[in-house]
Amino acid sequence: RQRRLRRLIGRAARTRDGIAVGLQANLELPEDVETARANGAAGVGLYRTEFLYMNRLDLPDEEEQFASYAAMIEGLGGIPTTIRTLDLGADKDSAAQPIEPSGNPALGLRAIRLCLKEPALFRPQLRAILRASALGPVRLMLPMVSGVREVVAVRQLLEQLKRELASEGLAHDPALPLGAMIEVPAAALAAGAIARHCDFLSIGTNDLIQYTLAIDRLDDAVNDLYDPTHPAILRLIRMTIEAGRTRGIPVGMCGEMAGDARFTRLLLGLGLREFSMQPGALLDVKEVVLTADTRTLQQRTETLFARLDETDPQDLLAALNTD
Ligand code: PEP
Ligand code: MG
Repeated sequence: RQRRLRRLIGRAARTRDGIAVGLQANLELPEDVETARANGAAGVGLYRTEFLYMNRLDLPDEEEQFASYAAMIEGLGGIPTTIRTLDLGADKDSAAQPIEPSGNPALGLRAIRLCLKEPALFRPQLRAILRASALGPVRLMLPMVSGVREVVAVRQLLEQLKRELASEGLAHDPALPLGAMIEVPAAALAAGAIARHCDFLSIGTNDLIQYTLAIDRLDDAVNDLYDPTHPAILRLIRMTIEAGRTRGIPVGMCGEMAGDARFTRLLLGLGLREFSMQPGALLDVKEVVLTADTRTLQQRTETLFARLDETDPQDLLAALNTD
């Protein structure tokens, strides 16, 4: 089976009815660049930048971050890269930027909220990403957005930083695409409004499931309740994809659901066309994409949605995963 999968590396990810599907990699460490390329990633849909802040007591400055992003862009050899701004807090902490302990860190000062409150933390990262965008196709993505306000605030800050860079003679892409992760239920419900201020959206199912179902993603005691096919989750995913389509912007998914081949047909049926995942899952998902027919899947998904609350998730998947 591994050998059969290896043969798919160079194949374009197209469905049987000729629809191109973007299969991208999630990167956590610089060495993941190699694995992504080795598995034929068409791009990077999520570059987690937290590693730059881990296992150290000082914050990385703009130059260090720029050098790191530049090396990564070079290593990726021209495929588009989505760099996510710092997502600290709750399950991701750093001694370099301690966060005041709180009773409910998952609901506390974290990710984009923290960055907007701490310009000394955020500005060097945005400047480094802007400068890196002169070196290859880069997109900028914000974690834990809960509404339009945060996107607008980042846009304003970016415009200010672009003027700064221009006056310093530092190259950057003035049209750097800006996107929001949809991983808080409020953001999915407000996806239409958020899409109006974004160039793309990306669904983060790891947190979307945690917040929608009120299931701690790291708590083993409730692990069995963590269900990507819960009707509430499927509706939020569908709403987000629809919002992107209405606004004419791409919608991807970079949570673990995107890299689980059991869900590939369901997601294609919901209209998803960009999947970002741990590089090791790319060929498994590609194998499913190559044999899928999006027209049939979209029709079947529509039918299943009409009685979603009455349908057992196993039956739903079985109905989509058999020809
Ligand atoms: C997510 O929440 O789905 C996601 C991709 O982000 P992370 O796993 O880094 O929180
Ligand atoms: Mg997340």
